[in-house]
Amino acid sequence: MLILMTFSHGPMTQPLHPTQLIDRFGRTVDYLRISITDRCDFRCVYCMAEDMTFLPRAQILTLEEIYTLARAFTELGVKKIRITGGEPLVRKGALELLQNIGRINGLKELVLTTNGSQLDTMATALKAAGVKRINISLDTLDADKFKAITRTGDLHQVIRGIQTAKSVGFARLKINAVILKNRNHQEVCKLVQFAVDNGIDISFIEEMPLGVVNQHNRSDAYYSSDLIKADLGQYFTLTASPEKTGGPANYFAVAGTQTRVGFISPHSENFCSTCNRVRLTVEGRLLLCLGNEHSVDLKQVLRTHPGDMTILKQAIVDAMLIKPEKHEFNIHEQPVILRYMNMTGG
Ligand code: SAM
Ligand code: SF4
Repeated sequence: MLILMTFSHGPMTQPLHPTQLIDRFGRTVDYLRISITDRCDFRCVYCMAEDMTFLPRAQILTLEEIYTLARAFTELGVKKIRITGGEPLVRKGALELLQNIGRINGLKELVLTTNGSQLDTMATALKAAGVKRINISLDTLDADKFKAITRTGDLHQVIRGIQTAKSVGFARLKINAVILKNRNHQEVCKLVQFAVDNGIDISFIEEMPLGVVNQHNRSDAYYSSDLIKADLGQYFTLTASPEKTGGPANYFAVAGTQTRVGFISPHSENFCSTCNRVRLTVEGRLLLCLGNEHSVDLKQVLRTHPGDMTILKQAIVDAMLIKPEKHEFNIHEQPVILRYMNMTGG
């Protein structure tokens, strides 16, 4: 089901000149995730099919259009922007875009999610560009398993990238690990130990049913956050931490260390009531919810009214009216969301 709201000045409009984005459920949206490319040098089994077709250039936002949108959202009260993809660092001009977004007045935090493949060479420039924090995907510390999960990736290159990012002074690096039963669930303690040894954080993510994948059955591969907590409890003492980073993770401190362990649990612990985020796809579709298709075509608004910030901002404000109350994920059914995570901007 594709729910696409066409932009209108009709009765479904919110007040002019707002400085905040608030949806029908009273939630303030101050966090935007932007997917700057659907392309990637990896093909992770939970994220993509092996033979993906990527979008033609004319269909994707230009870097200037992405920057204009970032500015419009910031003027509407967005404080935090995460640049993601696909693999954001494989897009030509990504660094310059980050620099420009980093300089937008009113933006408090520019952060990045990456698979780490380019970090070894780009970490210094990312720091200079004003990126405050980096999340790096790492599901296993076994090189063969890493190759099997990512289909093309090189574990050692990613580890080098993490070490370089640390050495150039990024504080609070975080690993993201998607845990699949019988693929990497046996490694959760090793991954936490790696995070502890490197003085970084780690979040475990329950797999979400986005797009059709063919290497595993998502229902069979489900490994809940509670099971991970129980596994970790045998080796580490975790104490609940009130800290939030503006995302959906619940954090625990690992006693006696600097490391925090987060759990992103779309299935076992719904986080929708405090949702403060929206996502912009590389096609310029504003997705109001990760687990629903409600969206607004902001590329069309931009290209129909070039340079008109007022119309663009009004379209964004109006979009808040169709932000759904909660996601509709059901890991035990065929996915209703056919777009893959690389399109969505995780
Ligand atoms: N390429 C970058 C990376 O891998 O970090 C950024 C984009 S990736 C889509 C963002 C995050 O989404 C990664 O941490 C990845 O593990 C996660 N992800 C991808 N597909 C997922 C799925 N089906 N369920 C849950 N998380 C997923
Ligand atoms: Fe690429 Fe990230 Fe998706 Fe893996 S999770 S295929 S690295 S976009």
